Parts: sequence; C-alpha cells; structure tokens
Amino acid sequence: MIERGHWIGGEWVAPVEGAYLDNPNPATNQVFSRVARGTSADVNRAVEAAKSAFPAWSKTTVEYRAALCEAIADRIAARAEEFAALESQDQGKPVSLASRIDIPRAETNFRFFAGAARHSRSDCFPMPTALNYTWRRPVGVVGLITPWNLPLYLLTWKVAPALVMGNTIVAKPSELTPMTASLLADVMAEVGVPPGVFNLVHGLGREAGQAMVEHPDIQAISFTGGTSTGATIAATAAPKFKKLSLELGGKNPTVVFADCDFEKAVAGTAKAGFTNQGEVCLCGSRILVERPIFESFVTALVERVKAIQIGDPSAPETGMGALVSQDHRAKVESYIALAKEEGGTIHCGGKRPELLAPFDQGAFLEPTVITGLSHDCRVVQEEIFGPVVTVHPFDSVEKALALANGVRYGLAASVWTQDLTKAHRFSEALQTGMVWVNTWLERDLRVPFGGVKESGVGREGGRYSLEFFSEVSNICIELGGPLGE
Ligand code: NAP
Repeated sequence: MIERGHWIGGEWVAPVEGAYLDNPNPATNQVFSRVARGTSADVNRAVEAAKSAFPAWSKTTVEYRAALCEAIADRIAARAEEFAALESQDQGKPVSLASRIDIPRAETNFRFFAGAARHSRSDCFPMPTALNYTWRRPVGVVGLITPWNLPLYLLTWKVAPALVMGNTIVAKPSELTPMTASLLADVMAEVGVPPGVFNLVHGLGREAGQAMVEHPDIQAISFTGGTSTGATIAATAAPKFKKLSLELGGKNPTVVFADCDFEKAVAGTAKAGFTNQGEVCLCGSRILVERPIFESFVTALVERVKAIQIGDPSAPETGMGALVSQDHRAKVESYIALAKEEGGTIHCGGKRPELLAPFDQGAFLEPTVITGLSHDCRVVQEEIFGPVVTVHPFDSVEKALALANGVRYGLAASVWTQDLTKAHRFSEALQTGMVWVNTWLERDLRVPFGGVKESGVGREGGRYSLEFFSEVSNICIELGGPLGE
C-alpha cells in the first residue's frame, strides 16, 4: 500500500487533520494507495512555503529555470516506465497509451516551455521622443487545479510554464488520480528544485481546491476541469481579482462531408470518439455525417469500434481500459439508459464487457455508438465524457453548421472534407477554440489551446501560457531631443 502526504516546502508532510483518502485502481476496484485529505490548514502551509520561496526563485535567471525544467524532463524520461505504469494503475487507461502519449507529453511540456521561455522576447514601441518596452515579471504564488483524465500530462502543461516564468506553485491534482503528481514531486527533489517552489496538496476539490481558490495570497488560478466547477471557481476568484484561466468541458462535433477520404475519416472519427475511453475533453462525441454516406459510414464506424480490445490496462494489446471510477461509469451508463428512453438505437456497446477476475470488478464499459437521437435531447447536448458517441445525418452545409454550433460548449471540432475552400470557410464559422481538418488531436505546443462559450476563458500553449504566468508592465523612457542637442 502506497501512502502519500502533501509535498510542502521540499518534504513530505502528513495532513494537519490526519485524514487520508483511499485510492482504488479503477480496473480492479482494489485500493492500492492512500493520499492525504487536505484542508485549508494544509493549503495555508503550502502557500506559506511558496511565499517564502518566491523572492529568491523569482530572481533566478530564465536560463537557470529552463535548465531545471530540462533536468525534470530528463528524469521523467528516465523513469518513464514507472510513471506510465502508475498512471495506468491510477486512471484505468491502457499502459500502452500512457507510455505513448501521457508520459512523453509530460516530458515534452518541460522541454518545450524551457525553449519557449528562452526564446521569448518583449515588445518595443518607439516614439519620436520616448521608447516604450514591455517587461514581464512572475505573478507570484499560483494555484494549479487539474482533472483526472490526463493527470500528469495536464498538470505539467501548467507546472512547466509557471516554473519557468519564475512563479512558485501550489498544485492540487484530482483526488481520483493523485499518484503521478506525487512522483513528479520526487523528481523535483531529485533535480534540486528549491524547497517551496513546487508544493503539492492532495484532497477533495470542495475542500483543498476551494481553499486554494479562496486563499488571498494565491494570485492566479489555472484550472482545467468541468464547466460547473469552473463556474464555482470563477464566482469565488473573480471578486478577489485573481488572474484566472479556465479550461472546461466540451461536446465536440466531428463533421464528416460526403467528399471526405472515407477510410481516413472513419479511422479519425473512431480515434476522436474513443481515445482514453472517451475521457478527453477534445473527444468528438457528436458525429455529424452528410446524408449520402451516412449508412455506410455508421456501418464502417461500428465495425471499427467493435474491434477495440477492452480489458487489462497493463496488457500491450489493450486498446481501451477502465473508466476512472465506478461513480463515473454509473454516470455514463445513465446517459445510455436515457438514450434508449429518448428513442436511440444502440449499434454496439451500451453494456459492461464480460471480463475475468480481477477485472470483473473494474469500471469497464464497452464503446458505444448510438443513432436516431434528436439533436436537442440531453444525451446529445450534455458532456458525457466516456466511450459514447451519437451519430446524426445532415443534408446541407448550413444544417451541419447549425448542428455543430448548437450546444453551449465550444472547445474543439474536427472537419473531414477534401474541399479546401469548404474546409476553410466551415472552420471559420465554427464556434470553437480549435478546429482540426482531416486530423484530430495533432498538437503543436505553440498554438493557442482553449475554448469559447462554456468551454472556458483564456488560452494555454506557447506564449499564451507564458503570458498568463507573468504580469506585463510597460516602461516608457523619455529620450530628450536629437543626438547632440
Ligand atoms: P472537475 O470535477 O471539475 O474537477 C477538476 C479539478 O477541480 C479536480 O482536481 C477537482 O478536485 C477540483 N475541484 C472540484 N471542485 C472544486 C472547487 N469547488 N474548487 C476548486 N477545485 C475544485 O473535473 P473532472 O471530473 O476532474 O474532469 C473532467 C472534466 O474536465 C470534463 O468536463 C472535461 O471536459 C474537463 N477537461 C477539460 C480540459 C480542457 O482543456 N478544456 C481538459 C481535460 C478535462 P476533485 O477531483 O478532488 O473533486
């Protein structure tokens, strides 16, 4: 049994109130670790440590901090197998996926932001009589709150830019997936990140998370998670004038035109629907298909989805693991039941797979494809965040656009067509922060990442993250008259 306290001031400490949370492996429902259940008392300690570390840390050079980020990346790479196994055990995802995506991306996050900070520059606005230039300073103590679907990947997406810009950190991962964040704290110690620069508080969102958002000495909150949690955080943080970045939920459309590359579109649609058990904010769970190819597309998609191997996350051939928890599976199943009530046709999945012990106790659910639902029903409008997609026909570009934009979310979309003009014009008209054309989740870490409508406020990635984790000032120097006068 692994037991983890909080990482505060460069050491592991027990929670002030002494309470711990059991942490089960979702694939077996066996508790394999316990983590501290943080309260405001623990958050206060972490903030004090971060405040004490800030003056010295914020005065270090970008080069020093970038080199430390690279050292962190090197250690993640060296311990990649350990990280991947732990992520899979904690989250339920296949270890092959964690090894291919989650852990390499965590490593890359540190390398990328080391380089981005080194190559960042300030603006200059010359006037005839004066010179303006911008100057960036760290924000101070920043609070990072992250979800359970891509635990280390999304935590490091915030930690790396926050560190390299000279902030000190209090981070809280989801209590469902606390393990790789703890291993990251070990790595910080290994490479010599000074005590108090990175602090980790475990616990529940409504306790430890809320205490972070309320704390007067945390100057910025960067949050990734659900839309309703984002609304609660905004309501608390906004009157305190904290900097706020909110990366929230999605109900993303995959729009397939009849002139697409059919095989490529089917493969891309399946990948967008079911990667990581459908637990990616960017997953395309509303599939809109132009009428002439609708029937053949559904047939091909279902055939492909049925071939996904579900089971033991540690087996290399497994394509889909367990959902993150029994509670989350119950929520996803409730949407499948609702789809049946609302008149939907289940083409595949819709039930739990039959697996041998110990996986018969795990939170597994077969990948599910549904047609026949009207676009305004709850299953199509609400984020399910699991292995469930709905497929809908459309007859015109205008109708496709109305359906694609017809939800309260606006995170991402993918569009499948070989008509370049249509691809461009349609993408422009989509109310989403990101659009992929003939691909999905192809990522360049420099590009703006984030959503519109109820999918969030602000952008992450490249300079957008560096700007969030710094405050810009303008300095105006009066130049006097021409040279010699
Ligand atoms: P969540 O329930 O909103 O939780 C996210 C984080 O916030 C967790 O660490 C949670 O702690 C914490 N939290 C909960 N209530 C809080 C409060 N009142 N104050 C401060 N922190 C609080 O989301 P989730 O279920 O973990 O993740 C799934 C959601 O994240 C989906 O909606 C998905 O679309 C979204 N997501 C968005 C992106 C993006 O980039 N836009 C990326 C990934 C996921 P506990 O877990 O302990 O409650």
